[in-house]
Amino acid sequence: MAARGVDVLLLSVGADLPYLTGYEAMPLERLTMLVLPREGDATLVVPRLEAPRVVDRPDVFEIVPWNEIDDPLELVTKQLPPECTIAIGNQTWAQFLVDLVERCPGTRWVKASEVVGPLRAVKDDAEIQALAKASAAADRVAVQLQGGQIPLIGRTEAEVSADIGARLLAEGHHRVNFAIVAAGENAASPHHEAGGRRIRPDEVVLCDFGGTMLTEGGAGYCSDITRCVYTGAPPAEFTELYDVLFEAQAAGVAAATAGTTCESVDLAARRPIVDAGYGEFFIHRTGHGIGIEAHEDPYIVEGNTAILEVGHAFSIEPGIYIPGRWGARLEDIVVAGADAPRPLNKAAHRLVTVEA
Ligand code: ZN
Ligand code: ZN
Repeated sequence: MAARGVDVLLLSVGADLPYLTGYEAMPLERLTMLVLPREGDATLVVPRLEAPRVVDRPDVFEIVPWNEIDDPLELVTKQLPPECTIAIGNQTWAQFLVDLVERCPGTRWVKASEVVGPLRAVKDDAEIQALAKASAAADRVAVQLQGGQIPLIGRTEAEVSADIGARLLAEGHHRVNFAIVAAGENAASPHHEAGGRRIRPDEVVLCDFGGTMLTEGGAGYCSDITRCVYTGAPPAEFTELYDVLFEAQAAGVAAATAGTTCESVDLAARRPIVDAGYGEFFIHRTGHGIGIEAHEDPYIVEGNTAILEVGHAFSIEPGIYIPGRWGARLEDIVVAGADAPRPLNKAAHRLVTVEA
């Protein structure tokens, strides 16, 4: 906060609050807000009816419960020095921020991600353990997919998506965040929503899924993996595309060591795809950070000159999408190490044929 010239951090809904306190605010019209001055003690302004859910952490913050007829913003603003710089949680509801801006003339507002983002991006050993555990659980579901244990042909994408979600929970996740299932031409849409399309023989099925696994500290850590299978023997044209993708993803993972810029990791994964003539069909960044949130700093994208540090955790997920025809993506979570990347996903990376 001192380095950024920030006097007070205000956190409401979003992942910064559980990261610092273990408590996750309810996304409600009733305000929950942590007031954390650069010097001095933090207070958690919280609706009285939510207060019983807060695990008391007197060493971290003081609880300030408010009653239904109180003005919670007044409890926040009276703690703020005049004309200071405030970093406010990126996901704080606009209805609170608009009122705060009005009540605090002369205040400079910045995003809390400027302060908390770099802290959250570097994972300590316990956090890496939590990510590895969630990734291993997602891997087990990927292995079931590749082993033909998840029936595909004749089922709708939505049915397979629900099946994958149930398996994520069975393998220890507490929450399913998404389970993209995209068959055939739908695989050309990176964030396709699984629907009523039935899966047929002899087509690609792209599955991208992940969930949150809670830890003892209260905050949960996310998994995120993509694997493609083919319901039959893939045609040479698709095998060729997939081989390019395989090389690109491996190159991206290999580049992910500390001291490298984020954009050069993106380039390492992108170059083999461009060289093979598929450049215009790789339509998104190479990856995103992962932790308490499924998408967070650091972003592996051209233009991000931030340098990877030991403990940065992120996805490497190049894709090639041919509109109207087919597509493929291959995704692992990787932790940057001092000398070598540490991939957390081990499920087979080659294209797998499933018979059912
Ligand atoms: Zn994914
Ligand atoms: Zn991802």
